[in-house]
Amino acid sequence: MLKDILTEGQQQLLTKLITESETIVCVCHQNPDGDALGSCLAWAEVLHTVYGKEPQVIVPDQYPDYLQWLPNSEKIIRYDKHCQGCDWTLANADLIFCLDFNTASRTADMENALRNSPAKKVLIDHHPDPDVQADVAISRPQASSTCELVFRVAWQLGCADSLGKHFAVPVYCGMMTDTGGFTYNSNDPDIFFIISQLLTKHINKDKIYRNVYHNFSENRMRLTGYVMYRRLTVDAEHHAAYFILTRDDLKSFHFVKGDAEGLVNMPLQIKGLRLSISLREDTEKDNLVWVSLRSVDSFPCNEMAAQFFNGGGHLNASGGRLYTTVEEAVNTVKKAIEAFKDKLT
Ligand code: 5GP
Ligand code: MN
Repeated sequence: MLKDILTEGQQQLLTKLITESETIVCVCHQNPDGDALGSCLAWAEVLHTVYGKEPQVIVPDQYPDYLQWLPNSEKIIRYDKHCQGCDWTLANADLIFCLDFNTASRTADMENALRNSPAKKVLIDHHPDPDVQADVAISRPQASSTCELVFRVAWQLGCADSLGKHFAVPVYCGMMTDTGGFTYNSNDPDIFFIISQLLTKHINKDKIYRNVYHNFSENRMRLTGYVMYRRLTVDAEHHAAYFILTRDDLKSFHFVKGDAEGLVNMPLQIKGLRLSISLREDTEKDNLVWVSLRSVDSFPCNEMAAQFFNGGGHLNASGGRLYTTVEEAVNTVKKAIEAFKDKLT
């Protein structure tokens, strides 16, 4: 059994908002990952199956190839491709669900349309310190994923039984991807209760795993080898490692969006390491370096990302960006490791 996640007042208001709304939109953050897309698709399925609504899922930009098999992903609308239509939809929506982000700026170019929309808003998210103005805010930073929260809400609303595979598959996908295949942030026994419920809907969790994680191109596999062999710096004294991916590197391996995903986790397989940082030059813009941070145990990636990399995120997984050359970015990484050495050792 799961404990209630909504107060009685929130539950009533949420139900009222859904039943009284005609135009409903589900949105998530830019560069949507498994949890962002999974939570939008799963929640849209609840709105459709249980409440008979026809919600639209709008995402800010491209999502990775390894998620294109998700059921109903073909109905997702990309803001960057259809911004006028999406602006209209957002401006005329009755209700907007904000899934898997804590601040409107995470929706990139969609931010203004979202902020200015007069629609009622519901936040379902697990990032710390949310500042999205919402009529109902379900924010649980301790949750494994937004998909876990979507399941909990559906459960409390009493609709889990009536939902099928098209709900269970994206929920499982988001919970799996936000926990690295249940290898971090996943010790809450409720997670496995939820999985047991999802499995009753005849999902093939092994296939979902393969779809996501065994979906490399040959180029991506060779890029991995190259990065670990040539580009990785291990600072054993500080239990940290970092690597760079230059634009030329990316070109050599015919980089496509998503190819760098997960690489940053790999150095943490080295015994004793607590922090891994990746620096990736943007493929188009000069002086833009994308930063990803991953850690184990209590090392706060989000504090480091906020202080040094214009970003934020979760305790063990954060991101950011630097508006510098890759050489300068490496210097910033060195400074960051030095500044956080007490927490690393
Ligand atoms: P990634 O390394 O996959 O880009 O990001 C890891 C995590 O950090 C994601 O869960 C994402 O939500 C978060 N994140 C990435 N960039 C930012 C940022 O600029 N601000 C905040 N608050 N979180 C971020
Ligand atoms: Mn998430």
